[in-house]
Amino acid sequence: MKETRAGWEENVRQVVPYVPGEQPKEDGVIKLNTNENPYPPSPKVEAALRGEKVADLRKYPDPTAEMLVDAIAQQCGVTPDMVYPGVGSDDVLSMCFMTFFQSGKPLLFPDITYSFYDVWAQLYRIPYLAVPLDKHFHIQKEDYYTENGGIIFPNPNAPTGIEESQDMVEDIIQHNPDSVVIVDEAYVDFGGTSALPFVKKYDNLLVVQTFSKSRSMAGMRIGYAIGSPKLIEYLNRVKYSFNSYTMSRTAIEAGTAAMEDKDYFETTRNKIIETREWSKKELARLGFTFPDSKANFLFVTNPKLDAKKLFEDLKQAKIYVRYFDKPRINQYLRITIGTQEEMQALIHFLENYSQD
Ligand code: PMP
Repeated sequence: MKETRAGWEENVRQVVPYVPGEQPKEDGVIKLNTNENPYPPSPKVEAALRGEKVADLRKYPDPTAEMLVDAIAQQCGVTPDMVYPGVGSDDVLSMCFMTFFQSGKPLLFPDITYSFYDVWAQLYRIPYLAVPLDKHFHIQKEDYYTENGGIIFPNPNAPTGIEESQDMVEDIIQHNPDSVVIVDEAYVDFGGTSALPFVKKYDNLLVVQTFSKSRSMAGMRIGYAIGSPKLIEYLNRVKYSFNSYTMSRTAIEAGTAAMEDKDYFETTRNKIIETREWSKKELARLGFTFPDSKANFLFVTNPKLDAKKLFEDLKQAKIYVRYFDKPRINQYLRITIGTQEEMQALIHFLENYSQD
């Protein structure tokens, strides 16, 4: 931007936006950089989309997305008044920041985590504290015993893939009855344990999940929060003060179909877990180390290889992974688990690669 600023620019909200992973336009790319699911959505989604009446698109969607909410509630074993749907979990989380973190006290989250949290905090002018993870990238629960205006962390964490125990999650909730605690479970379906059972016990807990990873629907943009009816009511008040029609008719139809196809969900997530475990063995054989991931990605480093150079060389070979040029993690690459064939191609590249 230009050096000289017009007078009106003094009144513009200044933000440093989140930088999403690249969506390459070229063909033939092995895309392991944005934690998408390599498999298509359930065939029932295709059927639902084919059946969707184009003529109906002239009408507004159901602002409550009731059909989708009911399907999510049933799947998660809660009542529909405990479900808040949104346009991807980014939309849900952003709404949560706007709704719950208004105390003026600092919001707490790990220093290495989903890099949208500090962006929303800045956007909504919420003070925050990025709490350092320990040297093994684990949360120290005592760090969350201090006074705060809210707590958020992903479990499993991103970009590390590390899962914290449910004992630790419950301990943090118990120590913070005066704050809303959000557990971002974008990656929980790949072998992690969900904090969902706690939502009936603690009225200050929100669990946020997404259709973007385990349900292969990043392009449809569906996410949801589960929590006490009181929390959901507060979220809805803000939502209806912002945009009533967040979920399109298409997303409601397709999302409901995806939620109802349990078998397909199980099959694809198990395939990814299997490929992840295979990839762990192969990468370890090639000298990489990584925290034990419960997500659909691995966070790898190799003492013999410069991570940024490897990232660039992989890209040259049309294999896209994610590199974060940030303190503590600038010698790591985050590699999404693709199909078995894609991971074999990655391993093949690495077997023949050296920086000597
Ligand atoms: N939380 C975490 C930890 C993530 O990594 C992502 C994916 N970028 C999201 C939330 C948002 O995903 P979506 O908006 O696609 O549901």
